[in-house]
Order: sequence, then structure tokens, then C-alpha cells
Amino acid sequence: MRQSQLFATTLREAPAEAETAGHRLLLRAGYIRQLAAGIYTLLPLGQRVLRNLETIVREEMEAAGAQELLLPSMQPAELWRESERYEVYGKELIKLNDRHEREFVLGPTHEEVITTLVRGEISTYRRLPVTLFQIQTKFRDERRPRSGLLRGREFLMKDAYSFDTDQEGLDASYTKMFEAYRRILDRSGLNYRAVHADSGAIGGEGGSHEFMAVAGIGEDTIAVCPACDYAANLEQAEAAAPEAGPHKGSSAALAALERFHTPEVRTIEELRGSFGIAPEQIIKTLVYTGDGQTIAVLVRGDHEVNEIKLQKATGISELVLAEHGAVAELAGVESGFVGPVGLDLALYVDAAVAAMPQGTAGAGTKDYHLRGVVPGRDFALEHVGDFRNVTEGEACPQCRKAALEFHQGIEVGHIFKLGTKYSEKLGARYLDATGVSRPLIMGCYGIGISRLLGAVAEQNHDEEGLIWPEALAPYQVHILQMSAKDGEQAALAKELYGRLTRAGISVLLDDRDERAGVKFKDAGLIGIPVTVTVGKAAASRQVEWKSRRGGDKELIGLDEAFARIAAQ
Ligand code: ATP
Ligand code: MG
Repeated sequence: MRQSQLFATTLREAPAEAETAGHRLLLRAGYIRQLAAGIYTLLPLGQRVLRNLETIVREEMEAAGAQELLLPSMQPAELWRESERYEVYGKELIKLNDRHEREFVLGPTHEEVITTLVRGEISTYRRLPVTLFQIQTKFRDERRPRSGLLRGREFLMKDAYSFDTDQEGLDASYTKMFEAYRRILDRSGLNYRAVHADSGAIGGEGGSHEFMAVAGIGEDTIAVCPACDYAANLEQAEAAAPEAGPHKGSSAALAALERFHTPEVRTIEELRGSFGIAPEQIIKTLVYTGDGQTIAVLVRGDHEVNEIKLQKATGISELVLAEHGAVAELAGVESGFVGPVGLDLALYVDAAVAAMPQGTAGAGTKDYHLRGVVPGRDFALEHVGDFRNVTEGEACPQCRKAALEFHQGIEVGHIFKLGTKYSEKLGARYLDATGVSRPLIMGCYGIGISRLLGAVAEQNHDEEGLIWPEALAPYQVHILQMSAKDGEQAALAKELYGRLTRAGISVLLDDRDERAGVKFKDAGLIGIPVTVTVGKAAASRQVEWKSRRGGDKELIGLDEAFARIAAQ
């Protein structure tokens, strides 16, 4: 490709809407343009990178035995009502009416459509298992579109769906997809972690994994063990059981319960400030309501409640923290002074609290706290469990050998064992070997191809611009012809361009009538792995070789330049 003909050009400044480095560089280097919030055009350079990603995804899906199809984007709204997801998806679902006033949605995902398709096509175990995939535009009216391709309202996804007769079959299909995802992301040059996206998965195969690109701007926090392979979303990461276990008896040796005056002292920080009590010595009592119930949860002062874990343990579906003003009515005392002693609510005690020999807590009376509160003696340990977020630096729950590290991550892929959720609702069944009708057992597997492009850009850049991994680069080689008018340079650049192209290597040739400085700057911005500069040494058939990843410029002969590239 001659750069003089390339449709889009580089920009000196990134448009104001760009917040992250990758987003800014994709705009400035001429890979993408915004049409509306969260809606982007892929310019020729961007489209070439996207195509490379698609090729990798296709190859790995097919190697894993999945078959490609293409499902419609426009989906009857009835289907979404049948699966009971019309309401659940809410405002993210883009809806439209056809000329007959029939309601449709633009697919944000395709479980409904694929299940309906398979319901009509497969009726016997003999045609199972099967895994189907597509690469397609998805529509989600995200509340906060963000960072260009990372959170769009229109974006490209590869979604795959497996159909099996039993759980073992699903496990096998899932494992194949898990491994295919690893290969896709390895080949894409991404720094990522596969994390357990559901709890209780330690040691065993979980029902869901997320693939997280490690990036400071990521929206998700992941807890990673540097010693073993443990990695989990902060939401799901399990806290290692405390060393000391719940305290039992021997309360005689412990200080007696002592009430002390703490006027207007309501927070952990104020208790520390006014009384010098360390947060890890404090028992924090929080009141939650939901489904018409009120409960209290106890966590250490230096810990945070994990509402997902609490929700699972209590079985309360719409669990919310009681508002400041409502606490007095629910717990009998103003917030800040609620404590477990004598509290007439079901107490969910975090294991780290249960393991405290004693602690300080609210007294249940305004302006007072209690010292020497002993778990198990002064309040019941009926519901003890893991109800908190793990903290950075605490022991890994799997190997217990190393301290957990926290990283920010971008979710680029998500795989999930669905079971019979959709096949039951949509009536997708098959006949087993004994003629019994059973629901299909499903898995679903999504990878955000356009988000992956954005994530790779976030991870691969320097102060000059983007630095593409070879497998994704829009072109393998960037030839910079320093002078557009010099006959010798033009001839040599053309020769190299011709030889490389004939060898099947993609080349961008900067033949523009621009100053050398502009050409180098643009090359740095665009980020093609190798630049070959054809300049003054052209007379002696020599060119300058430079790798975008660093290293010095080298003056080498044309033949060697060709040989090096061909050997890559
Ligand atoms: P998120 O939590 O980031 O909203 P999600 O859980 O809604 O993601 P899935 O429904 O599992 O995402 O979709 C599968 C994949 O599609 C995600 O792992 C991600 O890579 C991609 N994806 C989801 N939403 C978007 C979006 N708005 N823009 C770009 N890619 C997206
Ligand atoms: Mg989402």
C-alpha cells in the first residue's frame, strides 16, 4: 500500500473525548474515528488489525471443532420475552419497530436466537455434541460508553455456543473453548490472566472464567497470586480462612466487656483518631435489607463487605445497605453505634471477625462503644463465612504461600457453563438413546474482538505511538522513502516493495512528499514492527533497518533487508 494513497491520515492532537493512551493513539494514528458516543468507524489501518484478529479467532475456533455461522442481528422481541431477558436487559437493549409495528431488538448477544435455531435443527443425541460460533456486530446501549473500542455501543464479538447431552460433555466442550481462548490471546500478544469468575472454584473447574487483559486503566480489579496460578475477580476472590479459627471458650482469660463514652465518634477513622484503636481491632456492623428482611453483617474495621458473597449466603436477592437515616429504626440505634452485642438481627459474621480474640464494636447505645467484645461469648456465631473482599497482600487462598497482588484488568473474554437455562425456557430438547426427551446442555463463550484490539493498543505503546505485535500489525513492514523526488530512492524502494509483496509480505510504503521528520513521526505513531528507511545510502543499495520495539538503526544491504523480513 502506498501511503500517499492511504485514506486516513494521522492527527497531531487526539480529539478531546479520548481518555486513555490506547484510545488516543488509535485516533491519532488513523485507526478509528468516532461517529457517535460508543460508535466507531474502523479506518483501513484499523480494519486490517481487526481482520488479523478475526483470522486468529477463526483458526482457533475451527481447530477446536466449532463451526461458523451467522445469526441475524435483528431479533423478534417475543424471543426475549420468552427467555425472560427482555426486562432483565432493560435499557441496554436497543429496540425498534418494523413497518407493521412489530417489535424487534438489535442483538446484544445471541443465546435466544441460537437456542431457537438448534431447537428446530437437532432432535436426537446422535447429532450432538455441536459447537457453533459467529463473528458479528453486537448492540448494547451502554450507560457509559468509554475508552473508544473498550466499551462501545456497537462492537464486534465472537460468540460461540456449545450443545451437549450431559454435564461431562459440557465440561469437555468448555475445556476446549478455554484452551482455544488461551491460544487466541497468546497469539494476539496480550498480557492477560484467566480468572475464576465464580466463587467456590478453587482447585476444581469453575463454571465461568473471564480473560482479563492486565492494564492500569481496566475497570475490573483482579487478585492474582504470584506463586501459583490463582487469579480471580475481586468480587469473587475468596479469603483464605484465618489461621486462628473461631475463638472457643477460655473467656476467663479475656478482658471483660467494657462500655466507654465515644460522643459523635461513628467511623473507623474517628475511633482510630480519638482512641488510637487500630482498624483491625474493630468489629464493624453493617445493616442490610432486602426481600422484606433485615440482617447485620460483621466485618473487621480494615475490611470491606462483599455484597455478592453476602447475597449468596443470605439468599436475599435485592440486598441493599440500609441508608443512614433508616438504621435507627432497623437496629434500634443510630448508625455509627450499631454493634453485635444484644442486637436482635440475624448476624452474618465474617470469618476474620470470628477469629478475633476480642475487639471493639458499637455499643447499641448512642455515643458509646464496647471494648473487649469476644466473638462467640458476647454474640452468636451462627452464620460464619467469607463475607468480605480480599485485601492486597493477604495470603493466597489457594497455595497460602504468597501474598495476593491486585491488578486492574480489561475483560476481553468470558466463558460460561449455562446448563439448561435457555434450553428449558425455549424448549430446546433432544431424545436420548433410550428415547427420553431431555433439555440440551449449553455453554456460551464470548470474546470482544474490537475490545481486544483496544486492549492490545493499551498494552503496546510508548511515547512515540503504537507498537503492534507482529501477528496483528496492519502491515509487516513500513518502508520510508525519504525523498519522493529522488530517482534512486524511488527505484530502490519500489524494488524492495515489489519483492516483499510478491513474497506475500504486507508493506506500507511511505512515498509521500513530506519531510523526513514527518515520516518518522508518523511511522512511530502507526507502529508497524519494522521500518526500512530508503535514504541517501540508496546509491550503494543500502537501507536503514529499525525495529519498532527498540534497538539501534542498522545500515544494511537491500538483499539482507529482504532476507531478514522473509525469515521473520
Ligand atoms: P462488561 O462487564 O465489560 O460489560 P459483559 O459481561 O457485559 O462485559 P459479555 O456479555 O460476557 O460481557 O460479553 C462477552 C465479551 O464481549 C466481553 O468479554 C467483552 O470482551 C465484550 N464486550 C462486552 N460489552 C462490550 C462493549 N460494550 N464494548 C466492547 N466489547 C464488549
Ligand atoms: Mg456489560
